[in-house]
Amino acid sequence: MTDLALDPFANADGREIALGCSDCGEISLIPRHPGGGAVFLCPRCDAALERTGGRSLEAGLALSCAALVLMVPGLVLPLMTTSALGAARTSALTGLPGVMWRDGRPWLGLAMLLFLVVFPLLRLGLVTTVLARLHRRGRPAWLGPAFRLAEALKPWAMTDVFLVALLIAYSRLAATISVSLRPGAFALAGAGVLMLAARAALDPAQVWESIASAPEPRPGPALACHVCGRVEPGARSGAPCPRCGAHLRRRKTGAVRRAAALTLAGAALYIPANLYPIATLPVGLTPTRYTILEGVRDLAAAGLGGLALVVFTASFAIPCIKLVGMAWCATSVVAGSRRALKVKSRLFSVIDEIGRWSMIDPFVIGAFVPVMQYNDYIFGRAEPAAAAFTAVVVLTMLAARAFDPRLMWDAAVSPRGGEA
Ligand SMILES: [Zn+2]
Ligand SMILES: [Zn+2]
Repeated sequence: MTDLALDPFANADGREIALGCSDCGEISLIPRHPGGGAVFLCPRCDAALERTGGRSLEAGLALSCAALVLMVPGLVLPLMTTSALGAARTSALTGLPGVMWRDGRPWLGLAMLLFLVVFPLLRLGLVTTVLARLHRRGRPAWLGPAFRLAEALKPWAMTDVFLVALLIAYSRLAATISVSLRPGAFALAGAGVLMLAARAALDPAQVWESIASAPEPRPGPALACHVCGRVEPGARSGAPCPRCGAHLRRRKTGAVRRAAALTLAGAALYIPANLYPIATLPVGLTPTRYTILEGVRDLAAAGLGGLALVVFTASFAIPCIKLVGMAWCATSVVAGSRRALKVKSRLFSVIDEIGRWSMIDPFVIGAFVPVMQYNDYIFGRAEPAAAAFTAVVVLTMLAARAFDPRLMWDAAVSPRGGEA
């Protein structure tokens, strides 16, 4: 437990609040009402605790509200149309899960339903509701848990990843068949851009401070909520956080064991995901099954070098970096290593942030299968490795979520005393 060393003069008029760093566990004091354009870095690991530049709750509310409005046509209007043999096939985002289900790939269908329809709508709805209540000066008790759920959904709402996948599917199909993007694709692109802008306008630390102001820092043992960073007396361990409702724990329980088990399961599935075909698409008039790396080679051969690089990075390089990086971070805790702690902390943040982009390849398949159903020669479908690869992405994302990077810093201070 951290002893909060307070300078009695620095906080004499309550102008500072205590905030826990989610990367290293250090508890620092930052100004309660910081001016614009400042970034407060953790003095121990250099992670950004709070950014004040360009942030605005009003702008965040307007942008997330507009994104929610555009999301509806993006989900139901046609995305893409192909034509061949005098016929046409059209897809819509809400139809993708059903197509995957009928094609015998229910797990892929479920992943698309959750990541592209349910989670983006739920996250946008929650963020908009929370910000609208804050705007009306309302502070009901459910605001904290609602924003906690919205933050938990952030990596799993994958509209932006799907937009890149749609562009790749379009470019790939354009080499073989007549294809056009439809209004749903443009509405979805608008919603995606607005969601990114809303993320840039909102600093979670500011939203948390608006939901419930942090209490005065008190000397003595303290622990920081791992969700909202609120600092509470150490004796409150096990009780719910008064702001976000998460259970107050010094560190996540069983973090290394759970992260290691999920990483190992991901590593085991990574082998069949790369060895077996991921999808079938016609090349000329021949249905061709291809693996992840063969798909990259085909994109490069079709003159789409940039897209080949994107798919190679998302589907091959990122999962490798994630598996190796997670193994390094987990062994660092077990070994009580003191080396390169800042590098490992930054690597973990990157792993946690980029992991979702590996869903590009499964989404490319989801984008072209509904519009490639003509006859025994002109058809597209997902192959078994697509489900295995999706499982690798989900397992490694869950591993990063289960891990607690603060344990690496604990273990460096007192080896073998790290994991709770
Ligand atoms: Zn830190
Ligand atoms: Zn909390």
